[in-house]
Amino acid sequence: MSGLKALSVVSEIYPLIKTGGLADVAGALPGALASHEVEMRTVVPGYPSVMAALDEHETVVELAELWGGRARVLAARAKGLDLFVVDAPHLYARPGNPYHAPDGTDWQDNPYRFAALCWVAAQIGLGSVPAFVPQVVHLHDWQTGLTAAHLTYDGRRRPGIVITIHNLAFQGQYPSSMLQGLGLPWYSFGMDGVEYYGNIGFLKAGLQFADRITTVSPTYAHEILSPECGMGMEGLLKARSSVLSGILNGIDDTVWNPATDPLLPVHYSAAEPLGRLAAKAALRKRFLLDDKAQGPIFGVVSRLSDQKGLDMVLEALDTILAVDGQFVLLGSGDKELTAGFHRAASVHPGRIGCVIGYDEALAHLIQAGSDALLVPSRFEPCGLTQLCALRYGAVPIVTRVGGLADTIIDANEMAIDAGVGTGLVVAPTTTEALEESILRAARLYADVPTWQKIVRAAMKCDVSWTRSAGRYAKLYRDLVKERTP
Ligand code: ADP
Repeated sequence: MSGLKALSVVSEIYPLIKTGGLADVAGALPGALASHEVEMRTVVPGYPSVMAALDEHETVVELAELWGGRARVLAARAKGLDLFVVDAPHLYARPGNPYHAPDGTDWQDNPYRFAALCWVAAQIGLGSVPAFVPQVVHLHDWQTGLTAAHLTYDGRRRPGIVITIHNLAFQGQYPSSMLQGLGLPWYSFGMDGVEYYGNIGFLKAGLQFADRITTVSPTYAHEILSPECGMGMEGLLKARSSVLSGILNGIDDTVWNPATDPLLPVHYSAAEPLGRLAAKAALRKRFLLDDKAQGPIFGVVSRLSDQKGLDMVLEALDTILAVDGQFVLLGSGDKELTAGFHRAASVHPGRIGCVIGYDEALAHLIQAGSDALLVPSRFEPCGLTQLCALRYGAVPIVTRVGGLADTIIDANEMAIDAGVGTGLVVAPTTTEALEESILRAARLYADVPTWQKIVRAAMKCDVSWTRSAGRYAKLYRDLVKERTP
């Protein structure tokens, strides 16, 4: 098997910059693919945290003008990642996260910031760095979609294109008046080009021109063909369904390993799970919870957004209290949800705690110290927190949607008997069903041997990239073969 060169293009990558699961996937995939003889390099914008992390680097392309200023492309290594960094301070040297200013508003020039990323990625895809000419370009989400248009309209022989939809809710649509400013030819504005309901669609462009479309779970790949979940893209996705598939995400099982995790007070494993008790005590201390409650601790680590169904959790807090349970939340986002959880914590000190913000270390402690993790998403392309929960032995309580449905096996009686029940599945997606599941979790928790059986089954699941990296490698190889004249 010969080595295959693949260029990944992404707007965030762990551990350099992260707002969500996208960064985790982009950060873990290159390492996972290496054992399948895929050499992956990743193109990322030169945000301050990326620039600060670079080890060795060299300039491989100089650009006198890239959307309003000089720029360079650096070939670099940082924290074990092989990168091409688009060093364009006028576009990327800003505070805040990749998409928003510190006040939470989108950067006004986001279409140009990501158009620049796409244009540079396309140039590398077409061979502008002779030392690394990729056979496959792998795009992630709307920010990178125009790469596919640039690669295709260029007219030269291009590499195979794969685009992965991590979340269809974000599509990157901008007014048609921006067409030339985005560096696209006039004739690209059509149904078979980048046009999308009269606008320019970044994601649309990616879906239109990619040779393969993947999304991050088989169930989500099916769901997005429906008007309820397709978010307007269902027509195009149906037309392209012969190249659409779902490949589940994994998690980096070296970062998420309770047997070695430096962020935990005591290490533990499926065989020796007692360390969870120390994590539980530390968690209670951190959230100022009392240690008298007899019910389970329910945890949440999440963006606070409508997608994640946390309004239902707010409504279900009384049920948690009724079973003598406790509740901890770490999250950031929606202001109303933030206010709601703050209010609940102030009304029920010792029972409910919340930390608003982004805190990697605390996320690990919640996974290790909670008895159950609530993930009642309305839709969920894959979801990573439930995978972390499996690995850390926090029994996931999830809705039956997308990747949640594909990764958690409901602990009904038969599944418990067979030792394969790994969590609780909430269906339908309603507050009532969530409350039912909380009551069921409390009953199971009180039956100690049964609960331990579920925790063990959860912790034994293979949530690594092993399986899925093989699937991506096969997808790339099939594509290269298909495109070889
Ligand atoms: P999404 O990408 O939709 O936000 P995922 O479950 O796919 O959801 O991935 C979320 C990732 O971000 C997980 O690794 C989770 O642990 C992490 N995360 C989410 N919110 C926070 C937070 N407030 N602090 C620390 N980590 C968080």
